[in-house]
Amino acid sequence: MRGLLIGRFQPFHKGHVYVVKKVLREVDEIIIGIGSAQLSHTLENPFTAGERLMMIANSLAENGIEKNYYIIPIQDVNNNSLWVSHVRSLTPPFTKVYSGNTLVKRLFSEVGVEVKTPPMFNRRVYSGTEIRRRMLEGEPWEDLVPEAVVRVVKEVQGVERLRDLAKTDKA
Ligand code: NAD
Repeated sequence: MRGLLIGRFQPFHKGHVYVVKKVLREVDEIIIGIGSAQLSHTLENPFTAGERLMMIANSLAENGIEKNYYIIPIQDVNNNSLWVSHVRSLTPPFTKVYSGNTLVKRLFSEVGVEVKTPPMFNRRVYSGTEIRRRMLEGEPWEDLVPEAVVRVVKEVQGVERLRDLAKTDKA
């Protein structure tokens, strides 16, 4: 049986690793959809789909997960009622979706796909918003993500990118 976990992963963090491990106890293979794949270089979505793919693949390897997964970048579509078909057109077949996102859960359950909500792992700190905030404010963020993500962020100068994006052209 195959399950789908979809997220923006901006960036991929330890809460996401926790969910992947939990899902892999229930399914034979997990499909990790990188949502909003077209977005990068914004304060909410600083990392490209390719950078996020490196973060995820290297983090899974770091956690001893070497197979049983597919990572598929998925661009958004401008029509929520078509989104599930769009996702299906890009991914291997799946029978279950794992998500805590209200819209994702709604769209899949409306077309009869079984949706499960994995428990949150300390969502207050293990959250993309909190990690990006810490990067911007110069606070420690490295403990919230796998070491592989620290390496990718350093390689692409992700913190410098975010701080640059936060600058305005006003004096
Ligand atoms: P996210 O990266 O915030 O979260 C990914 C998953 O991880 C979610 O299920 C979330 O509940 C879970 N998670 C996050 N932190 C966790 C923690 N600490 N512990 C346990 N679980 C945790 O991504 P998201 O916002 O859910 O991504 C949804 C994607 O689907 C977006 O890219 C969105 O654009 C896309 N989408 C697109 C359309 C469209 O194109 N029309 C419609 C719906 C959704």
